[in-house]
Amino acid sequence: MMSGTYNLIVIGAGPGGHAAAEQAAGRGARVAVIEKNQWGGTCTNKGCIPTKALLACSKQYANLKKLKRLGISPGEISVDFAAMKRHQRQMITTSSLGVQKSLKDAGVDLKAGEGKIIAPREIEWITPQGDAHRLAADTIIIAWGSKPLLPPDIKPSGRIVTSDDVLAMDMLPESIVIVGGSVIGVEFATFLAEMGVNVTLIELLNRIIPNEDEEAADFLRQELTRLGIAIHTSVSMETLRETSNGVHLQATHNTEPLAVDADYALICTGRKPLLYADELDRCGIKYDQGGIIVNEKQMTNIEGIYAIGDVTGGIMLAHRAMQQGRATASYLYGDRSITYKEDMVPSVIYTHPGVARVGLTEKQAAERGLNVKTRKVEYTANIISRTELKGNGFVKAVFCEDRLIGVTIAGDGAGELIASMTLAVANGMGKTELKKWIIPHPTLSEILNFI
Ligand SMILES: Cc1cc2nc3c(=O)[nH]c(=O)nc-3n(C[C@H](O)[C@H](O)[C@H](O)COP(=O)(O)OP(=O)(O)OC[C@H]3O[C@@H](n4cnc5c(N)ncnc54)[C@H](O)[C@@H]3O)c2cc1C
Repeated sequence: MMSGTYNLIVIGAGPGGHAAAEQAAGRGARVAVIEKNQWGGTCTNKGCIPTKALLACSKQYANLKKLKRLGISPGEISVDFAAMKRHQRQMITTSSLGVQKSLKDAGVDLKAGEGKIIAPREIEWITPQGDAHRLAADTIIIAWGSKPLLPPDIKPSGRIVTSDDVLAMDMLPESIVIVGGSVIGVEFATFLAEMGVNVTLIELLNRIIPNEDEEAADFLRQELTRLGIAIHTSVSMETLRETSNGVHLQATHNTEPLAVDADYALICTGRKPLLYADELDRCGIKYDQGGIIVNEKQMTNIEGIYAIGDVTGGIMLAHRAMQQGRATASYLYGDRSITYKEDMVPSVIYTHPGVARVGLTEKQAAERGLNVKTRKVEYTANIISRTELKGNGFVKAVFCEDRLIGVTIAGDGAGELIASMTLAVANGMGKTELKKWIIPHPTLSEILNFI
């Protein structure tokens, strides 16, 4: 017997499911969200929020070393890792409670437990106590998210760990080898190195952060090396095994053997969509290893079933999942004014200093056959950057026929600076529009004046 009827049931309360449910309820739909783990999903509990809470601690700690230049002697500095972990837990709780509150305020029914798709309009909701209820919905949004992807021959263990495990650690190791030099790998490398851990980072490709501008990747490599991280690119891992007191990694680096011993190995080789094959197959929903297949409206091949966020593969970022969620709700219940465009998703790497991008890099533009002009300015040209000891950095803007089509920022504050550039690129602004922009003085944002 059906115990609830809804316009929309969302399965998964990560950033995607949260945004979709809130937006749909705000447009008058009767909505339920089912969440089987923690409210807020990977982002709140095992991703964006805990990593940034830890990076905030290590950044402050590392910055203390700069204070002498400003005439401040902080005296004896000590680190209380337990207090840092407390900050991490508090931020997770605050974020998770915020998700629940905003859903409740919007009038969404929050259902803790597992959601299973039985048929296109039918869901089974299994409560944490094991009670099963049938729910009916005109529309279902799948927002199951993703999980860490490990190389085929690597099994996690006490010493061979994923980002989930590192975030759960209550003690810092003395040494760690990080496998994978993309976003998650370099962020953990930054935190751990700033905390004094001996970090070795290996990357299969010939540069770290391979999706980003080459100069930004070189810049970050230099900065991370300065932090004390040993970075090896063009490295192919052959074996990784636990030893009696750590791990031993054997690899090849440009045909030369490379061996690394460390207390732990952190595997950061990407994430894969969470696909429950039995449910997808039962309903005939198409998917492949890359994720659930959707069209530009996030619609699966089955009428009334949509999918958003990491479960659809592609760029796995929280704000992308959110925008897809909002756009889907706007399409279903609103005026369809909220849209999602893959090319407009900004990316931020929260290293110290950071790297951020929106739109295309020079190379990506060239690969699309676009005739582009690039302009670049260094952080040293900006007085606030110098005054506040922000260090090295640059902004690179890519124009096509006078329209801004991409911006990369490498340097302190990159993640904040990219927000205005996202607006400019998303609105296809050209030099004429950008010249009307008055930027307060003196600010780091003035570095964007050159555009
Ligand atoms: C270490 C790390 C750092 C990251 N940092 C950033 C960052 O700084 N910025 C950024 O933009 N992104 C970051 N990400 C990526 C970001 O976390 C994800 O892209 C985002 O969480 C995806 O949102 P989602 O809604 O698609 O899925 P998720 O957040 O994964 O949420 C899916 C939810 O669905 C639930 N669920 C699954 N199956 C069921 C079921 N059958 N029934 C009920 N519930 C179910 C899960 O429990 C989960 O809560 C990071 C990820 C990691 C791992």
